[in-house]
Amino acid sequence: MNILLLGSGGREHALAWKLAQSRHCAKLFASPGNPGIAECADCVSLDAANHEAVVAFCEERRIGLVVIGPEAPLVDGLADALRGQGVAVFGPSKAAAQLEGSKGFTKDLCVRAGIPTAGYVRATDEATAMAALDRFGAPVVVKADGLAAGKGVTVATTREEAEDAVRDIFGGRFGDAGAEAVIEEFLEGEEASFFALTDGSTIVPFGTAQDHKRVGEGDSGPNTGGMGAYSPAPVLTPMIEGEVIERIIAPTVREMADQGMPYSGVLYAGLMLTATGPKLIEYNCRFGDPECQVLMMRLESDLGEHLLACAENRLARGEHPRFSGDTALTVVMAAEGYPATPKKGGAISGLAGAQTDGTKVFHAGTGLDADGTLVASGGRVLNVTARGASVTQAKARAYGAVDRIGFPDGFCRRDIGWREVEREAS
Ligand code: ATP
Repeated sequence: MNILLLGSGGREHALAWKLAQSRHCAKLFASPGNPGIAECADCVSLDAANHEAVVAFCEERRIGLVVIGPEAPLVDGLADALRGQGVAVFGPSKAAAQLEGSKGFTKDLCVRAGIPTAGYVRATDEATAMAALDRFGAPVVVKADGLAAGKGVTVATTREEAEDAVRDIFGGRFGDAGAEAVIEEFLEGEEASFFALTDGSTIVPFGTAQDHKRVGEGDSGPNTGGMGAYSPAPVLTPMIEGEVIERIIAPTVREMADQGMPYSGVLYAGLMLTATGPKLIEYNCRFGDPECQVLMMRLESDLGEHLLACAENRLARGEHPRFSGDTALTVVMAAEGYPATPKKGGAISGLAGAQTDGTKVFHAGTGLDADGTLVASGGRVLNVTARGASVTQAKARAYGAVDRIGFPDGFCRRDIGWREVEREAS
């Protein structure tokens, strides 16, 4: 069948790479794609906000499966429009995507379903939010309710910082996403990500990962979309994973179905591993970027089959995902100035020589200039990804590849995987 993949980042390059190898894939289209994706798909230009145009494209090109990479089109209801016209879609409905689109919605669901998460207060005005700060003291976490590309969350160490964050939200900094705020108890522990595929009833675990959100080494500096990741996350032991499925994922899937909005797609749980067990920080309704890149590096079974089984409500009868037993690690090469003001147009060279056995460079913010030279076109530019027998080995291979790439206007962190490298050394 023909498959359409929506998105243009490193996540989508990794998905495109695996989808193109699927036994189900006759032809892969991607919109808008990027120069890396163009190596394995036909890139087209569709406006994902124009649902009718996407549906029309699917009819014209006989698309049998649409895979929606980023969250915005999901929260905007694109999956509903496609399903309404009989097109199979990997990704949740608008109602189910509220799990990512509204932090307050998810917190209320956690309370109803008894899911462990941080204590919280939802506030639709500044006075209520300020009063909630009294309840939690400092440190405290202040969040805009809606999608704010990772910028709507402040982990405030002082009361003053927390008050500033509240004023920012109600002062309109995040537009509609800040119509409401969630004030949360601060959770202490190590963070890890857990992925599951679900068609609304069956749950299939789909790997674990840890990422590095801060721009600077030692996890310092401002938050970014993610500067690197590795999979699996050994801190998520099989025992903890079992607990996560039983106490967090399964009750969520049940509750969503009971509420008449069954969740179909990948459920990505951001977890805090606390002294009293794993707690849910947040849900995302799509794969993580760059976590997806490390999951795809390790996936040995047919991605197209898994996503199609999910879209067709037949996960229970689908092939079970198989991941390699080794580690994959990805290093994000970003444009100078990222995350505040990334410099665009920097030339990139040496990608062919960097990709040896077990190493793959996924494109994120890349483009071609008028001469056909590969250049940076966004903040996060390349995801240099390698496999190894351990995090230490995968890290050495990934940085070996980084050093073979020419990108004078770029930078990367040099310590991706540090927690696990320390643990492996001890
Ligand atoms: P992103 O796009 O970065 O995933 P987001 O806007 O969806 O972010 P969250 O994942 O809810 O927001 O929070 C971002 C980060 O803030 C988390 O990864 C975590 O490090 C920190 N954080 C969030 N909630 C808490 C909490 N209750 N206790 C401690 N840290 C928290």
